Amino acid sequence: MRVAVLDTQVALGMKVEFYDPLGATFGLPTYPFKWAPTHLATRRQLRSRNLRPGGQDIAAQILWRHRGKRRVAYLYDIQHAKAKRTATPAQLAAVGKALLARRFCTSCQQLKPYYIPRRYGECLDCIPGGAA
Ligand SMILES: [Zn+2]
Repeated sequence: MRVAVLDTQVALGMKVEFYDPLGATFGLPTYPFKWAPTHLATRRQLRSRNLRPGGQDIAAQILWRHRGKRRVAYLYDIQHAKAKRTATPAQLAAVGKALLARRFCTSCQQLKPYYIPRRYGECLDCIPGGAA
């Protein structure tokens, strides 16, 4: 989808970096920061409306520069987005158990107030030589 204001700027010979509505240069339809069409949204924007991409392909991207690096945000078509799923009580219980398991040290059989470092596989008290 074209952006009239940006088309005008290009027609006037102004350089508009990262405006490529057909994807001829960047492979995907590309818009500069803050210039994406309103029917497209990022994952987070969808989520704030209780939507998810729902398996659809990336529709377009936003490109911009930040601290000398090129940053990208992928955009999805809001029309093809699906309602966000809510976790069942069983799923929430499973997540709770998993989080609890991450705090359990199998060496000293104690539940710690922190997650067991995966690098050591046991709590800071059980690491040979003590905590680093
Ligand atoms: Zn331990």
